[in-house]
Amino acid sequence: MNFDFADSARLAASLPDSLPPLAVDIDGTLTDSNRAVDPRVFPVLQAWPSVLVIATGKAMPYPVALCEFLGLEKRVIAENGGVVIADRDSPVSFLADPAAANAVAKEYQRRGYSLGWGEANLVNRWRETELAVSRDAPLEPLEEIATAHGLTVVDTGYAYHVHASAVNKGVGLREIATSLELDPRGFAFVGDSPNDVPGFDVAGVTVTVANAPESVKRAADYVTESGYGDGFLEAVEWLCQQSE
Ligand SMILES: [Mg+2]
Repeated sequence: MNFDFADSARLAASLPDSLPPLAVDIDGTLTDSNRAVDPRVFPVLQAWPSVLVIATGKAMPYPVALCEFLGLEKRVIAENGGVVIADRDSPVSFLADPAAANAVAKEYQRRGYSLGWGEANLVNRWRETELAVSRDAPLEPLEEIATAHGLTVVDTGYAYHVHASAVNKGVGLREIATSLELDPRGFAFVGDSPNDVPGFDVAGVTVTVANAPESVKRAADYVTESGYGDGFLEAVEWLCQQSE
């Protein structure tokens, strides 16, 4: 289904209070295919009647800014679980040490490869536990160096993320649920990429969107017919049906 702005406003106005806490990815799930956030998702996020967590591979300032400018409580899983903010009164949790990721970046660049984000390197500037490398950069040496430092490389479809093997969005979801005294199995999780699957493993109900790869579709309880922002709105309709 293609939602217009009136459809998404209607959906937002009709969300039942019985909807579960929601963890939702940004890129590919709340965006269009060019990674621009789809404004039709805004009213639904703003009207979500339960806890809402933004769970992303991006560095913390990106999801925090999304929450800030939409007027949402800042509940964030950033850097694929490396950084977690449960609410304004809890300390920020750092679930991985940045030393290994920094060493990987240094060695990769020493060998003459670029991280691929230009001189400003905004993708990594505020990153505190992991490293993101452009998918235009060579993967093989990156994997070799990451393995030597005990780190894992995950291809999200948007970047190569180099992070601690023990950290992922599922670990982040457990951390935030514990802080909020909620059962992580009580969460719904909506995402589109392999880095969302560990979140699916922890949440109780999971949805992916049509643009997800097959491996992610196999891991989800429900796959929407539409992709990207339309897919997210369709996922919300499905969650509404499930919670009736
Ligand atoms: Mg994504």
